[in-house]
Amino acid sequence: RIMTKSEKLFERAVKRIPGGVNSPVRAYGAIGEAPRFIERAEGCYIYDVDGNRYIDYIDSWGPMILGHNFPAIRESVLKACEKGLSFGCATEIEVEMAEFICDRIPHVDMIRMVNSGTEAVMSAIRVARGYTGKNKIIKFAGCYHGHSDAMLVSAGSGVMTSGVPDSAGVPKGCTEDTMLAAYNDLGSVETLFQQADGQVAAVIVEAVGANMGVVPPREGFLQGLRALCDQYHALLIFDEVITGFRLAFGGAAQYFGVTPDLVTYGKIIGAGMPVGAYGGRRDVMELVAPAGKVYQAGTLSGNPVAMAAGLTQLKYLYDHQEIYTELEKKGELLYGGMGKIVKEKGLNYQMNYVGSLGSLFFTGQPVVDYVSAKSSDTVAFAEYFKKMLNMGIHMAPSQFEAMFLSAAHTDEIIMETLDAVKLVL
Ligand code: PMP
Repeated sequence: RIMTKSEKLFERAVKRIPGGVNSPVRAYGAIGEAPRFIERAEGCYIYDVDGNRYIDYIDSWGPMILGHNFPAIRESVLKACEKGLSFGCATEIEVEMAEFICDRIPHVDMIRMVNSGTEAVMSAIRVARGYTGKNKIIKFAGCYHGHSDAMLVSAGSGVMTSGVPDSAGVPKGCTEDTMLAAYNDLGSVETLFQQADGQVAAVIVEAVGANMGVVPPREGFLQGLRALCDQYHALLIFDEVITGFRLAFGGAAQYFGVTPDLVTYGKIIGAGMPVGAYGGRRDVMELVAPAGKVYQAGTLSGNPVAMAAGLTQLKYLYDHQEIYTELEKKGELLYGGMGKIVKEKGLNYQMNYVGSLGSLFFTGQPVVDYVSAKSSDTVAFAEYFKKMLNMGIHMAPSQFEAMFLSAAHTDEIIMETLDAVKLVL
């Protein structure tokens, strides 16, 4: 058999890039194949170097909520490039970006731009500790908050897929203030608060778990976290790197009507450019340097080209909020449809979804947390994934990731996807 271009590229890549990829979730390790190398993308389609076209449900892991290569965003980037790629100095568009978000999201009084979701979370945690004068952080098993040392404890996403429980190279001292609770289990959070003896600076949570596959919060779970944080004088941080500007313009906080003290963003906020941000209450954010004593910085933070892309996308979303109603409907059509196929075929699998995010779990157990997510048959998932890919459907190569719907996925495209699911399952 002749090697594909992707296979040849992967053969070269593994010699010079660890694992052949610049982020573990891109590898097809759990599938046992070379990843598809991508050449370009447009709307809901992505094209690999061998000329194959796929319907894309990765959407760059979330940023492409308007579909790939959205004309207005591309134009804004090209225009920004003409003025120079980076100045490392203050620019007008950074003020516009901050004002645009703060004027429209009630729980964000001030915001700081960074370059990734990892940085956003790492910085939000630092400011929470600086503000409260406490060190302990409660996180949930299966939630992924980027790859900073303190957050690599029972993290989801690539950490979960690779089967490495925690990362080597993280000194114990870096994680000894990270306390681990069970998602959807308020009792486990309360127990930790009691054990911590008043030393909890913050609870950080993905308001919809989306890095152990999609795990919706139980009724009252987020409200309960809010109440516990108030009772124990800790800050509540919503990691909205995936859910921000996706479930609603105001993210999961708006969607579920629960107000966090701090929020972290990534993905959609940069429209595909490397942008993250953290923001929230004025009295907390005023502690960030140079206004305050919590240090955090970035040579390329607020980069003008990245801001142009992100702000164009945010403005478009704000002006077209019917997109959110449409995404709910598309989610119902696709994920509801997949759930129906599972039932019709008498399969004992779980279809979890919230809005445009969904996951089919190959397990008979309802998936409500890390432990139940891990009960999934990853070999059965790999088989499903490979068959779907061969039918032209591009999904995350892991049981423990979400499918992302965009505005570019039409009902016809979704029906085509459902036909494939019907054949494959
Ligand atoms: N938080 C959440 C909820 C995420 O999903 C991710 C990435 N998938 C991150 C943080 C880290 O973001 P980044 O990969 O941009 O560092």
